[in-house]
Amino acid sequence: MAIGFIDCHCHISAEEFISDVDEVIERAKKAGVKALVAVTENGNEFERVIALSSRYADFIVPCFGIHPVQGVPGHKQCSATLKDLEPVLPLFSKYKDELAAIGEIGLDFTPWYVSSSEQREEQLDVFRKQLEIAKQLDLPVNVHSRSAGRHTISCLKEQGIRKALLHNFAGRPSAALEGVQAGYYFSFPPAVSLSEQRVKLIRQIPLEHICLETDSPALGPDKKGRNEPKNISISCEYIAKVKNVSADKVMEVTLANAISLFPKILKAIKL
Ligand SMILES: [Zn+2]
Repeated sequence: MAIGFIDCHCHISAEEFISDVDEVIERAKKAGVKALVAVTENGNEFERVIALSSRYADFIVPCFGIHPVQGVPGHKQCSATLKDLEPVLPLFSKYKDELAAIGEIGLDFTPWYVSSSEQREEQLDVFRKQLEIAKQLDLPVNVHSRSAGRHTISCLKEQGIRKALLHNFAGRPSAALEGVQAGYYFSFPPAVSLSEQRVKLIRQIPLEHICLETDSPALGPDKKGRNEPKNISISCEYIAKVKNVSADKVMEVTLANAISLFPKILKAIKL
């Protein structure tokens, strides 16, 4: 089987890519990326990610999700509410055959965004409602968690979720291992190579539960610059170094993991 990278969590429908998406995709393909699992943060992106996935049917598999934090990065951002989800609810079932997963969804309890227990409760409601949709449509979930690692994993388990990717997880290794026990996967973007913070976590999660991602345009190898899917090899090499295995081994195992987690990838890629 020919192999390559699957970027399991990126924001190719973000505004940052509107002007040069064709070049970004060309560079990703040249760097060995075989497919992008494209997540959204808000309902305004849904039609755009569908349009991109039909234009690049052999490369982009779309996801729909309402992120726990709403608003434009750099401007005022706030915790998601049911008003962000309700108007776009019909779109999930309309496009269910196209969707690879429900995401980006999750919990973000950074005090800056959630200052009251009411806000936390409503964010949990938005998350639970989307987990419900994932179960109804029999789709995996692509999940964000920040300052809420253990809450997120308990919530997924309580809701009976069986297929989940915890992207850029930064919780405790013990919480991650509870997720591994539940069958969940964990992915890490290029930015993790900038510090030693995740070494312990990456070492403890078995490679059979790890996927690759870039989270482009955020979390790249250079804090200020725009991240692109072509940078995925940085994540691969970093995980290989931490786990003391070859980068080829990481590529091969993470590819198999990505396909078993997001089977719709197979509709897109030619291996
Ligand atoms: Zn993301």
